[in-house]
Amino acid sequence: MIRQPIVSVLGHVDHGKTTLLDKIRGTSVARREAGAITQHIGATEVPIDAIYKICGKLINKKFKVPGLLFIDTPGHEAFTTLRARGGALADLAVLVIDINEGIMPQTVESINILKRYKTPFVIAANKIDLIYGWKNCKDEPFIFAIQKQKEEVQQSVDEKIYKIVEKLYELGFSADRYDRIADFTQNLAIIPMSAKLGIGIADLLLVLVGLAQRFLEENLKTEEGPGEGTVLEVKEERGLGKTIDVILYSGTMRKGDTIVVGSHDEPIITKIKAILKPKPLDEMRDPRDRFLSVDEVHAAAGIKIAAPNLENALAGSPVIVADDNLEEVVNRVRKETGIHIETQEEGVI
Ligand code: GDP
Repeated sequence: MIRQPIVSVLGHVDHGKTTLLDKIRGTSVARREAGAITQHIGATEVPIDAIYKICGKLINKKFKVPGLLFIDTPGHEAFTTLRARGGALADLAVLVIDINEGIMPQTVESINILKRYKTPFVIAANKIDLIYGWKNCKDEPFIFAIQKQKEEVQQSVDEKIYKIVEKLYELGFSADRYDRIADFTQNLAIIPMSAKLGIGIADLLLVLVGLAQRFLEENLKTEEGPGEGTVLEVKEERGLGKTIDVILYSGTMRKGDTIVVGSHDEPIITKIKAILKPKPLDEMRDPRDRFLSVDEVHAAAGIKIAAPNLENALAGSPVIVADDNLEEVVNRVRKETGIHIETQEEGVI
């Protein structure tokens, strides 16, 4: 079994990270339908069936990757805080660049972080709809939308892309428009798009799934066995006390499991009282009744865990299920939380 790759969105402020995530969340695959986009805690799952539907004629083969799990919080702070086994939690990243503005300081920062973590990424060259003369083409794949544009608009898109390509070359990357790339191991893919109009979302999802399938298959094997995750946030919830929002990236977590969680000092050892997922909107009778309790969950997933003694839990730290290897797990959590704190101190980039 292969799990969904975890995808992070990075980029300069105002280049469209939030709009892109909102658009992906809102993509019109009817709710409740098989393969519908589902909301997790802190993440959004786009199952492969939804990707087939969104991509339509763009896809002509089947993938083993079961979908993509997008982390809802964009930006490089979230990317560097969220770690797994000392590396980045995200398996893949989307670097959003405003095609009209090009590479800006936080774009370079993001690139340096992605290089340091050796995270494969693609570039979303956003806001093509603002290019002079662009004709709408709402929700169409980029490769179809571009063919409907006037010659000078097509040229204008390419000029802007090749400006970005030049800058990327200076930063050590060979990049090209994704539909002109033959070898994705040698070239960074640029997907021109408009997050606002939904143009190019299909192309972006397709390239991400393709990359995951080709280069990450080995990393995405879901290990059967004890769950391992990363704490996204520590939150007080009415009636539940302090809870942790967790991205589970490996194995299984069950109600009643003993977990070890990183904290400001010694790791916390506690037992899972409840595993919660967001309740679908149409099942919510009361705004306070927001969660659905489940007995077990498999990677990859975003969940809320209710358990005693979570007051000192630390965002960004590991949460690992222990059985008869408690001491070993405690040591591991202590070590990985240590790594986290050290890097945070040195890591102001
Ligand atoms: P973030 O800071 O990177 O998360 O950027 P936002 O998603 O908040 O977007 C910043 C601004 O750009 C907002 O006013 C968006 O509506 C706008 N925006 C984002 N994507 C597009 C796009 O594709 N086309 C246009 N015209 N505007 C966009």
